[in-house]
Amino acid sequence: RPVVVAVDGPSGSGKSSVSRAVAARLGAEYLDTGATFRAVCWWCLENDVDLEDRPAVAEAARQLDLELGTDPTGPTVRVQGRLVAEELRTSRVSSAVSAVATNLDVRAELRRRQREVVDAARGGRGVVLEGRDTTTVVTPDADVRVLLVADEDARLRRRARDVHGTDDAAARERTRDEVVRRDRDDSTVSEFSVAADGVVTVDSSALTLEETVDAVLALVLR
Ligand code: C5P
Repeated sequence: RPVVVAVDGPSGSGKSSVSRAVAARLGAEYLDTGATFRAVCWWCLENDVDLEDRPAVAEAARQLDLELGTDPTGPTVRVQGRLVAEELRTSRVSSAVSAVATNLDVRAELRRRQREVVDAARGGRGVVLEGRDTTTVVTPDADVRVLLVADEDARLRRRARDVHGTDDAAARERTRDEVVRRDRDDSTVSEFSVAADGVVTVDSSALTLEETVDAVLALVLR
């Protein structure tokens, strides 16, 4: 039976790596909901849409031609037909994305698009979707809902490795502002530090990627 798994959690908790690996192991699709917010943010920055102009950003989200490729071994995002990858991961987008994510009309539009992907996958291979309100708002009816957490030090180390290629003290400090501030900004729209009813918390602080993947798979297969 195709399964829907939702994974929520703060920056650096390992959401993306874990979700992709779980999806690959299940033969399911993978949906990175954060990428949809990043795509809207990137497009607005490219096209000089003022991120504080909420109706304009919401309209951009509604008009955007956004194609999500859901293969967990190589997920893709196309915006107006253009394949974007690194474009969505720049620090420019990372620092601006919360302004887009706190726009409730943008959230409504992207939620609609995210649910389309999930609904299609329910009749197919199933899906692992990840992102901050997936367990509570996007798919509160998912078969398995996981809140992936890790202590601040573990999260800084992982983000530093992703962004700077090293997790030495200097790289961790450079990462701190982004991780801590973005989580604080994001927490004004969705609470992801406390598990909602029916959501299982998995703490990855002391686990390897493999161990975390196995912990989530155990919840799916039980
Ligand atoms: O997960 P990622 O870091 O790519 O998410 C980028 C941003 O998108 C988050 O900082 C948050 O502002 C927003 N987001 C969200 N709801 C989601 C996923 C992401 O608000 N479901």
